[in-house]
Amino acid sequence: RALIEVRGLTKVYRPRRSTPTIALDNVALSVEEGEFVALVGPSGCGKTTMLKILAGLVPTFDGHVSLGGHPVSGPSSDVGVVFQQPTLLPWRTILENIMIPIEVQRLDKGAGLDRAHQLMDTVGLAGFGDKYPKELSGGMQQRAGICRALIHDPKVLLMDEPFGALDAMTREFMNEELQRIWLTSGKTVVFVTHSIPEAAFLADRVVVMTPRPGRIAEVVDVDLSRP
Ligand code: ADP
Ligand code: ADP
Repeated sequence: RALIEVRGLTKVYRPRRSTPTIALDNVALSVEEGEFVALVGPSGCGKTTMLKILAGLVPTFDGHVSLGGHPVSGPSSDVGVVFQQPTLLPWRTILENIMIPIEVQRLDKGAGLDRAHQLMDTVGLAGFGDKYPKELSGGMQQRAGICRALIHDPKVLLMDEPFGALDAMTREFMNEELQRIWLTSGKTVVFVTHSIPEAAFLADRVVVMTPRPGRIAEVVDVDLSRP
């Protein structure tokens, strides 16, 4: 059975002083355990809305959305989320930021620290744990955000254009790191991007959304010949 199951999902934003927007219109999607799905489409087609709903960050919507057989009704410890902009707390060091999920979920601190250092090594942040976010480049902050999303070993990783703000070279490096993390950890990943090449490089399956009103146009299975 699918790990992520979406059926008849409709989301209408109703701002108080303007006309409502249909962000998602009767969308269906299922994601198998261990799959890497890229969600692509032009700006405004509802990608972020879909990801936020999967992350449990949208309180109201119509339709069925479940994760591991349970309806999504709020943020879950089974999920790690990375947004386009780094969202590190400025008054905490890089290591203290990465450790947040361990504290919030009251997991073992020693094991968490080991894992934090291992993750920082993986993404090229070894030795930067004691720095503060503003002392690091945007790319490095984004990498720290990825470590934070992975520290509690969530089943599902949701990423919203995580490398959108990076220069081309860093972006390529991060794509390769992300692919390595995915290949070795067996996580289920939903990755929002507007880059078709990026989607084709990373994903098993590319879900293409139409400009509006928030429908899925087609689902493409990428022929994988991973090394
Ligand atoms: P994408 O991530 O593909 O750019 P979004 O999910 O951000 O698309 O947005 C889908 C549509 O919903 C857009 O028309 C956007 O303007 C609208 N929208 C998104 N968030 C809000 C909000 N908080 N209030 C009102 N409209 C919104
Ligand atoms: P990114 O491409 O990740 O945005 P930059 O291009 O700004 O990073 O920097 C490239 C490299 O320079 C980084 O990977 C890091 O090794 C080093 N670097 C960047 N900022 C700092 C800093 N504040 N202190 C030490 N080294 C840094």
